[in-house]
Amino acid sequence: MILRRRPRRLRCSFCGKTDAQVTRLIGGSRGYICDTCVGVCNKILEATPASFEGWQSMSDDELLNSLAPCLATVEGTRHVLQEQVDTLRQRGVSWEAIGKSLGISRQAAWERFS
Ligand SMILES: [Zn+2]
Repeated sequence: MILRRRPRRLRCSFCGKTDAQVTRLIGGSRGYICDTCVGVCNKILEATPASFEGWQSMSDDELLNSLAPCLATVEGTRHVLQEQVDTLRQRGVSWEAIGKSLGISRQAAWERFS
């Protein structure tokens, strides 16, 4: 049997885009972040006070301004999670194994990711 090695692309750990899909990709000890996600993070930081004193300390406008960047981050992370599950399913990994890894039932994993 001959194993062919696929060229491995680096991916943003937040949105899942490859190094070919982004302008810049910054590496950390356990992952990568692209220029777009850095921009989203900066918007979150700009929208929140420097010293965080809880959501109750923020004005309505501050909270409203932080919603869209937060949603973008959640959606980016959700996209990465879905891609990882899709890859596992393409390899024939069971819903039971995926569910177990996530601490949810086989049925819950199937309902959430299929
Ligand atoms: Zn990204």
